[in-house]
Amino acid sequence: MSAMERNANLAGVVVPFLGVIAAIVLLWNSMVDWTSIAIMVAMYLLTAVGVTVGFHRLLTHRAFQSYPLVERTFAVLGSLSVQGSVLDWVADHRKHHAYTDTEGDPHSPHVGHGHGLRGFWHAHAGWLMETQGQADWRRYARDLYEDPAMRRIGRMFPQLALLSLLLPTVASCALHGFTARGALEGLIWGGLVRVFFVHHITWSVNSICHIFGRRRFAIEDRSTNVWWLAPFSLGESWHHNHHAFPRSAFHGMRWWELDIAGLVIATLARLGLAWNVVRIAPEVQRTKLIA
Ligand SMILES: [Zn+2]
Ligand SMILES: [Zn+2]
Repeated sequence: MSAMERNANLAGVVVPFLGVIAAIVLLWNSMVDWTSIAIMVAMYLLTAVGVTVGFHRLLTHRAFQSYPLVERTFAVLGSLSVQGSVLDWVADHRKHHAYTDTEGDPHSPHVGHGHGLRGFWHAHAGWLMETQGQADWRRYARDLYEDPAMRRIGRMFPQLALLSLLLPTVASCALHGFTARGALEGLIWGGLVRVFFVHHITWSVNSICHIFGRRRFAIEDRSTNVWWLAPFSLGESWHHNHHAFPRSAFHGMRWWELDIAGLVIATLARLGLAWNVVRIAPEVQRTKLIA
């Protein structure tokens, strides 16, 4: 990883955190209203769906198929979550599945940094300064690498990251008036604070969901299901289910396992925008249960 990549990723971790500090100070001075909170929630849902349904279930695991236009839209929405280019994200994540919790996993809390707090931090955000974006596209993301449109979206990541901050700023100005205060409120709440939450929830799947929580299936890795992260992660925290059946479009596998990303995919299928949706039959699930 080059020094420039490392510094860019460090900025990606630190700047939203500073935004949260600014937000706390502003909240103290009551510089937030329901309009700003609504912009933040809308941006959160849009970009978290981009990363969970788009980057993860569609583009990494091909849990369903869709039109090229829908694929590209999801690639753009996922990029707005400011987690690196779509090609890097997919390649890193496929490598995580290829080497889960063994040597070669880009972000295991159990490899190379002990099993304690240092391992936790490595899996959460430390890996961004070490292994992020180092997986070979030709080996781990060949399908995207050979798609010129995807490569273009990947190359546009810096501009899309800026757009991710610009959109809520403009929305806030439109609703609050084009003043410095209107712009700042949108930038901080809908931009930086929202990016902070999307980041840390996504990273929690890498850290918390490989350490704490429950296991159901007889598989080799250390992945876990973490129920309390399910609403925020849109269902990605049924991560043990996901490692047992990586291609499944649905990570929640029992009726009570809330899986909002799965509901989005089911809705897309009903609208005719998704097909060949991968479902794992209950009898197939039972074959992997811990005896
Ligand atoms: Zn995992
Ligand atoms: Zn996965």
